[in-house]
Amino acid sequence: MGKTKKYCYGFCLLISVAVNILFSINLYVGGDKRQVISNQSTLTWSEKAAEEAEAVAGIYCSGHGRAYLDGLISQGQPVCECFDCYAGSDCSELSPGCAADADSGDPVFFEPFWMQHATDSAVVISGWHRMSYRYADGTTMSKELENYIRKLHSVVGNAVTEGRYIVFGIGSTQLLNAAVYALSSENSSSPSNVLASIPFYPMYKAQTVFFNSKDFQFEGDTNSWQSNNQTNKMDVIEFVTSPNNPDGELKKPVLGGKTIYDHAYFWPHFTPIKGPSDHDLMIFTLSKLTGHAGTRFGWAIIKDKDIYDKVLNYISVADLGISKDTQLRVLKLIKVAVEGDGMPLFEFSYNKMKDRWDRLTSVFSKSTKFSIQQRHPLYCNFFNETRLPSPAYAWVKCEREEDHDCSAVLKAGKIIGRNGSLFSADDRYTRLSLIKSQDDFELLLKRLTELI
Ligand code: PMP
Repeated sequence: MGKTKKYCYGFCLLISVAVNILFSINLYVGGDKRQVISNQSTLTWSEKAAEEAEAVAGIYCSGHGRAYLDGLISQGQPVCECFDCYAGSDCSELSPGCAADADSGDPVFFEPFWMQHATDSAVVISGWHRMSYRYADGTTMSKELENYIRKLHSVVGNAVTEGRYIVFGIGSTQLLNAAVYALSSENSSSPSNVLASIPFYPMYKAQTVFFNSKDFQFEGDTNSWQSNNQTNKMDVIEFVTSPNNPDGELKKPVLGGKTIYDHAYFWPHFTPIKGPSDHDLMIFTLSKLTGHAGTRFGWAIIKDKDIYDKVLNYISVADLGISKDTQLRVLKLIKVAVEGDGMPLFEFSYNKMKDRWDRLTSVFSKSTKFSIQQRHPLYCNFFNETRLPSPAYAWVKCEREEDHDCSAVLKAGKIIGRNGSLFSADDRYTRLSLIKSQDDFELLLKRLTELI
């Protein structure tokens, strides 16, 4: 009996040693397999980054500032970066006489939406994420992202993408000049003439002049050009900005030549969507769609293969394609944008803009000194009802004879706008941005109420 027990103990010991040896082999030799198994259950390498990201996002800045991992650091810790007019370590101190800065078109009004959709919109990037210049198919553009952009346009109904080519750029800014380059006539004895209709976005002129090519030159306003060159069938490239920056108008071409449709603001929060835009060359940007101006991403939708090849070549020569990290992030954001057929995003952004316009028009309605642009209702195919546009900017006119410099008049009332002359218009006009943070908008409204 004692002998049998002894054999049994010996046998069990042997089994136990064998099992341990097998586990050890699996631990050291089967490392890859183990990683696959552990990835399925618990997080490994992403946990630290996630903790870091959530810790910095959780730093208290009184709602009037944000802390970032790549931002200001004090004593080894990230600290609050305060919004305009706020100060103090937690951004709680409002400086009483501060001017309302309505100058830039920073689309920060989307921020609360992304905070509400924090779980769906966060991206994790591994240290080895897409280190190559190219994707597996040899291109520099993510096919999956391109598919989502097409899906987005079909959900919103604002652009035809079937049978069209798409090119990504570093913001739509890069694509504006790529488009001018692609449409301009090489090998011609005279340069192509680039024009836009006053008031126009200053970057069209700035880039065309800066890049200083023998193939294109900036010729200014379409209407003056038309009256001076009526019989002259010259080579023209016209920027058609619809809706327009600064006045929100749905612009149409004036000259009947080649066109670049800048649709930066052609989204349901800024304008009713009458139907899909169907032009040879259309440019869109993430900046005014989701508010991520800092991500620097835009795209062009192009009908003609030769023009597409030229735009692609421009991007390739300028920077060998755009960042793969950016493309991953944009994919994530656009996936959220198309959720619920776009309703959550565009309901949020439209309601925000509508609320701002309702309050703004109520203030301006009391004034005889200042006026803002007229808005006309249109049927919106996206929301299935007639709505007023709610443009990104108020185009303010100083009505009094003596107020030649409207920006100066507003500045005296502690409001910073952008001079009309920057848009090649009269300085009797000033542009006020309505797409900045809620703090910025509240202060703008307060200063306007005081002034008016
Ligand atoms: N087009 C228009 C009319 C704009 O107002 C802007 C930005 N303010 C852009 C293009 C450029 O946008 P981004 O480079 O951020 O895509």
